[in-house]
Amino acid sequence: MTIATEFWKQKQPEAFTTEEWEAICCRCGNCCRLKLEDEESGDIYYTDVICRYFDLSNNLCQQYHQRCRLVPECLKLTEQNWNKINWMPTNCAYRILYQTGDLPSWHPLKTKKPLADKYSVKNKVISEQDVPEEELEDHIVNEDFSHDE
Ligand code: SF4
Ligand code: SF4
Repeated sequence: MTIATEFWKQKQPEAFTTEEWEAICCRCGNCCRLKLEDEESGDIYYTDVICRYFDLSNNLCQQYHQRCRLVPECLKLTEQNWNKINWMPTNCAYRILYQTGDLPSWHPLKTKKPLADKYSVKNKVISEQDVPEEELEDHIVNEDFSHDE
């Protein structure tokens, strides 16, 4: 089945087909990065460490259909809960669509090409299997992978 051009502008997410909903995900992988929460302030810090089930060779979850069972903190974004999208990365395509009503110019549905590496976690993350938990704090980076000055 083909997807209509700019369908995301023509209807509300609640009316998206499953295929359309899935197509909004640009496969950037940013939501699969491990995050640390400051217990006092509630602030969230991103790391350059990624979930053990993330396949670094193709930027996809290896356990997509079991993800919520295997990783309780892996939140399943749906048409019903996407108004709570503030917990998604700022560069998440769903979040951008929710906040602006459009997809960014770099999104594969607009470029008709695979996502450019600069927008994905490709070559920027390491698997949590290779990082001891006590060293996670050493891996804190900004959401865009830059470091504080
Ligand atoms: S289980 Fe899959 S979707 Fe969930 S955080 Fe891990 S790699 Fe990402
Ligand atoms: S951050 Fe958003 S667009 Fe990127 S992989 Fe996760 S759900 Fe998809």
